[in-house]
Amino acid sequence: MNTSLTTDQSTQTEIAHNIFTFIATCDFSARTKGRAMASKVFTDTSSVGWVPANLGIGPLGHIVDDLPYGASGDLRLLADASSRATITGIPGQADLDYCFGNIVNTDGSPWESCSRTFLNNTVRTLRDKYGITFTAAFEHEFVERATTRYPHPFSFSNFMSAEPVSSTLFKVLEDAGVEPECWLPEYAQHQYELTMKPAEPVVAADRALLLRDITTNVYRAFDREVTFTPVTHPEKGGSGVHIHYGLYAENGDSLAFDADRPGRVSKLAGVFNAGIIKYAPELTAIFAPLTVSYLRLKPDNWSTARAFCGLQNRESLVRVCPTNEIGGKDPAQQLHFEFRGADAGANPWLLLGVILRAGLAGLDEGLDPVDIVEGELDLEDDHSELAKLPETLSEALDVFEASETVRSWFAPAFSDTYLKVKRDEVEQLRGKSFEEQCDIYAAVY
Ligand code: GLU
Ligand code: MG
Repeated sequence: MNTSLTTDQSTQTEIAHNIFTFIATCDFSARTKGRAMASKVFTDTSSVGWVPANLGIGPLGHIVDDLPYGASGDLRLLADASSRATITGIPGQADLDYCFGNIVNTDGSPWESCSRTFLNNTVRTLRDKYGITFTAAFEHEFVERATTRYPHPFSFSNFMSAEPVSSTLFKVLEDAGVEPECWLPEYAQHQYELTMKPAEPVVAADRALLLRDITTNVYRAFDREVTFTPVTHPEKGGSGVHIHYGLYAENGDSLAFDADRPGRVSKLAGVFNAGIIKYAPELTAIFAPLTVSYLRLKPDNWSTARAFCGLQNRESLVRVCPTNEIGGKDPAQQLHFEFRGADAGANPWLLLGVILRAGLAGLDEGLDPVDIVEGELDLEDDHSELAKLPETLSEALDVFEASETVRSWFAPAFSDTYLKVKRDEVEQLRGKSFEEQCDIYAAVY
């Protein structure tokens, strides 16, 4: 027996609970950031200081040059008390109160470059203008690192390899109100997936951040490491963040289902999805924001081969999902879509915000309902005309910059900062092999 360890433990003071409330935001590098305050003085109107230039920190951890936001200026990170949760049950860690915030000016007005506000505004516009409300759910794939046990896709053995972490993790997520739904061993080596129940869009995006941070921390509590990076090695399978979304009227009736139309997709949903497909190349820099994101977005990879809407097709950018009609269950309320192009490099509020904003553009422009590809993709022949997505982050940033429409959705300083942060990242990683780039991102995400 190691007596010194026993002595240390017995003299350790018990960890105090709920000392802090962490008020959180998320920037362009999709890292959760914020400040903690004493829980005992937290109120529904609490805020902490925030700095505009923080938005200009990329995944590599430095503020990039020549930003529109400089050394001066101040903001507040204003708690949205409805998002308050307690993270409890992570071995060896104190319970923590946690709350998302909206970034506001010091007079309380919304800050032009807050991604959470952008999503909130987009959701509100779709409801006020078109009477559409949404459900959303983020599915995350991730990989356990440095595991030696021989893996086999989808196997019970892989499932058991994740214990006892997985049971602990699932419980911590449940207790934090994240509403995890399924935990599954995935296809790639040491890859797992966690899905969550559908929720209102801002809540769903908040939960995506919580899920990533809680998962990483629960694994660490067991001295194990995971990464949500899109690709751990150029030769290995990718990890996506798939976003499921459904369209409903304010009374809860489905607006997506029409038994008489192709794919049983309503005209309204077809027009909405047409906007997403139309603007996908211009938005690729946002949903696939890392240099290695493009190792994942290719044919035969079950991610996204081209910008198209496909019926139950795992290579589509927007997939019409299957319904469960066992025992005569009604498909109408279930029919929904899955956006499959994204990865964990993307800020969830911004990501869901641009998907919904592109759908809104489809409605505003009165586009024709999107064609729905049925069956397998035939890129040589039948489907050779489907739009391609940019193939590198550099190219994607140029396409984003050239899109006056997409840039008009944001304040000029927002797009300018995004471009500067991401172009700095491209420069910093230039000359490194894809293997090295994968290693760098795996350590960040
Ligand atoms: N791992 C695939 C991806 O990169 C998705 C596999 C699946 O769940 O269909 O998105
Ligand atoms: Mg999966």
